Amino acid sequence: MTTRSETQSTLTHLLTEIEHRNPAQPEFHQAAHEVLETLAPVVAARPEYAEPGLIERLVEPERQVIFRVPWQDDQGRVHVNRGFRVEFNSALGPYKGGLRFHPSVNLGVIKFLGFEQIFKNALTGLGIGGGKGGSDFDPHGRSDAEVMRFCQSFMTELYRHIGEHTDVPAGDIGVGGREIGYLFGQYRRITNRWEAGVLTGKGQGWGGSLIRPEATGYGNVLFAAAMLRERGEDLEGQTAVVSGSGNVAIYTIEKLTALGANAITCSDSSGYVVDEKGIDLDLLKQIKEVERGRVDAYAERRGASAHFVAGGSVWDVPADLALPSATQNELTEADAETLIRNGVKAVSEGANMPTTPEAVHLLQKAGVAFGPGKAANAGGVAVSALEMAQNHARTAWTAQRVEEELAAIMTNIHTTCHETAERYDAPGDYVTGANIAGFERVADAMLAQGVI
Ligand code: GLU
Repeated sequence: MTTRSETQSTLTHLLTEIEHRNPAQPEFHQAAHEVLETLAPVVAARPEYAEPGLIERLVEPERQVIFRVPWQDDQGRVHVNRGFRVEFNSALGPYKGGLRFHPSVNLGVIKFLGFEQIFKNALTGLGIGGGKGGSDFDPHGRSDAEVMRFCQSFMTELYRHIGEHTDVPAGDIGVGGREIGYLFGQYRRITNRWEAGVLTGKGQGWGGSLIRPEATGYGNVLFAAAMLRERGEDLEGQTAVVSGSGNVAIYTIEKLTALGANAITCSDSSGYVVDEKGIDLDLLKQIKEVERGRVDAYAERRGASAHFVAGGSVWDVPADLALPSATQNELTEADAETLIRNGVKAVSEGANMPTTPEAVHLLQKAGVAFGPGKAANAGGVAVSALEMAQNHARTAWTAQRVEEELAAIMTNIHTTCHETAERYDAPGDYVTGANIAGFERVADAMLAQGVI
């Protein structure tokens, strides 16, 4: 049997190779490091995982598509964006993962997201592989008509790569119900098929699942609650800082409030809002979902309990819990120091990889419960898989049924991560638990299916 240190040096060598073969993709390197650094114990303990080529296959996407997306703005000017779909791993089911429309999108970002998605999707216990896509298109300030034309152009290429049994995209940053509607319409038009299961996050009444919009945020709060329960605490009366003000942040705040916590912040790229009375969700939803405005408008309209801080870091606000729900690397080492100094008990990731590796290390060293995104925010994609199940059966479940399934899945993910961490001598380390448990499920399926 190989020792852990021999295995670790093999994995370290592989990481160097990944960096050489995938230059200028720092986010992908970061995600690969984060996973591979925790796998030594399981690879050393189970010789089948040391099989040559297994991990090499895992870090290489099965397919990567890059395409031109030309579209015309309302003045008739032509714009050219770049579209991506990375189909990373289909050992467990059709590729599944969102589309991100944001100017920061490039191949490395989509690969980091797709790689994370493999393990996240495996942790749900459902039959979904991992993929991700998107574009460097910036929807901010664009009219509905412009967004529609962009989505139609994007789908005019994407349609040939996806399908209910092949690859099932959904939303992510910049892609919500409006965009999924336009994308679905164009797919239906081109293919002449009512294929509900080709996209998830659809609208109510045309194949969408109840609770899908809420699922990522709700699921993350349930995961944070499970981590607290492990320490003999609950959410009641805890103060929470939440970053972001999109779909994940909004439903994180909603669930925190429903379970008795006080969620006092939200943010966007312009700054953050602190509301001592707790964020007023009706007002936030009106500004973000209806008016598509900025969070400073919230502070202006809310009155005395709220103030807006331009720039700055939302993690400066003292709280018991922190739920980063905006974007990657938004919680740095310095932020972690501040949170620890202010007595934070748990950090649970609603966004994908929002906490830098140095910050994760500090939080864990300080004994803060840390829920990594691939476990904590898996509720969104889990309910996407439930949407696929409903589409396949041509049925629609009640909100209560979907919420019960979501709660059971999140409890199960928490238990799996917790027990796996204990099994591999890392008690309380949810990063190790999530990586190993996700890896075991995907690796077993890949081994069973041969070298492909
Ligand atoms: N974009 C979400 C995620 O990061 C959801 C993906 C999906 O529902 O397919 O998991």
